[in-house]
Amino acid sequence: MYTTRSTTYRPAGTRAGLADLRGLLNTALDILEEAAAGRAGPVAPGGPRAAREAAGRVLAGPLLPDGPADPVAVLHELVRPYAEWAVDVTHPAALARMQPPPTAAAATAELVAATLNQSLHAWESGPFALELDRWVVARLAELVGYGAGAGGTLTSGGSVSNLMALTAARDDVIAAARGRYVFQEGLIDIGVQPVILAPKGIHFSVARAARLLGVGEDHVLTVPVDRHGRMIPEEADRILGSLPGLPGDQVAVALVACAGSTDLGVVDPLPEVAEVARRHGVWLHADAAYGGGALFSERLRPMLDGLALADSVTLDLHKFGWSPASSAALLVRREETLISFGLQPTTCLSADDDTCAGYIGLQNTSLQTTRRADALKIAVTMRTLGRAAMGAMVDACHDLARHAAARIAAEPRLELAAEPPLTAVLFRYLPAAPLDADAFNGALRRRVMEEGRALLARTHIDRGGGRTRVFLKLMLLNPGTTPGLLDQVLDMLLAVAAEQEAAELRALGLDPAAGAAREAAATGA
Ligand SMILES: *Cc1c(COP(=O)(O)O)cnc(C)c1O
Repeated sequence: MYTTRSTTYRPAGTRAGLADLRGLLNTALDILEEAAAGRAGPVAPGGPRAAREAAGRVLAGPLLPDGPADPVAVLHELVRPYAEWAVDVTHPAALARMQPPPTAAAATAELVAATLNQSLHAWESGPFALELDRWVVARLAELVGYGAGAGGTLTSGGSVSNLMALTAARDDVIAAARGRYVFQEGLIDIGVQPVILAPKGIHFSVARAARLLGVGEDHVLTVPVDRHGRMIPEEADRILGSLPGLPGDQVAVALVACAGSTDLGVVDPLPEVAEVARRHGVWLHADAAYGGGALFSERLRPMLDGLALADSVTLDLHKFGWSPASSAALLVRREETLISFGLQPTTCLSADDDTCAGYIGLQNTSLQTTRRADALKIAVTMRTLGRAAMGAMVDACHDLARHAAARIAAEPRLELAAEPPLTAVLFRYLPAAPLDADAFNGALRRRVMEEGRALLARTHIDRGGGRTRVFLKLMLLNPGTTPGLLDQVLDMLLAVAAEQEAAELRALGLDPAAGAAREAAATGA
């Protein structure tokens, strides 16, 4: 079958394509509305098996069929199940992950970015997109408190921002110590073993960066934390002081601090940690991927005092910033440290003729070459919401977390891990003996997800004695949730847990009523 170009390929950006887009958008919006109306919970019930079966039904045909198909039909085929099986990030029981509900304006900006398909790598790939990107990065650098000379780049997320920060740290610190660049000569020729220090709660992407950078996970040294999970600066000082005496020509290149840890929302004492880093000539990287949201809040902003003392900051606006993924940045105190990615000085004396004439792309400040224009939706989100609203939204999420924490602390069968500094609440159900709490909480989480009633995250935390325990996590990033709705979710969790506990006890031949009585006696409830 032969089809003409015009029927199979109509670019969205042409006049005819824009007319198509308007029509298709209506189709898509109808599908989204129907999917929203049909949802009974934060995710469709049935768990991984049902999702796999649904996919099997829909995805039976080829990815690349022999002939063309009507876009409306394809949207129904693919977008409908995609929407029906989507995690509803607006649902009050969608509490697992750092996926905030974005605004309609932000989603529109995303559609525009896709339609116009600009890129940031070269001037001729998107002149205004480049200007907007530079402007957003500069404003975000100001937001974290950086002054003149700062720089940065938008990234695909905190994991990449952390990798880039540690790359810059490795190169900058070793160049300062040895006068040679690792990105040029390699670690073996220079003869150094880079070392990274980080507290226990640090995001796993730091260890992964160490793998990729030739540092090696074994050379990520864990800095002890206090009982609140905050890095102890004196311990960082002690470890850094002990390094030169160790074999292998170790050079401490980075001290990584949490500015809002993924699990507990812990913020390390940034001014003290910065002082230790300065004293030892080590790069301080602050991971504010999640905690950076506190910058919008008058109430929480003081927690991040000292953030601008860091040499680099990771900031995710697709978490506490209500912009759709990817909306993320790496910010550096000194722009020239982006030399690791190929950044060239742009004074006219040293530059080529295109650069002198202003034809400058951003492929030399990023891991990516082709790079989508994420700045548009970030700017649209921040401009449409404004500082006061974003601050109020952060505070509302913080209030919700405190409400959940208070409720959990008041429930005799629930254990709260810690008061939430930000909006992550860790807790677990304490089942009656002899049930194992770890297995019980793991099964509880799977059960409510399989029933499509709630989405929770799960983590392991150290409760002393060298044994980590399974905890469940509520991540509150939806200011549209209310304390009442959150109570309903907790009531539901308690009811499901009690049911599961009774069933598990009965399966062991035990009387659930006696078990509950034993537990009540033990906890004094
Ligand atoms: C989420 C998170 C990351 C990773 O960010 P992505 O955008 O998911 O790549 C890194 N650090 C912290 C503290 C985070 O919470």
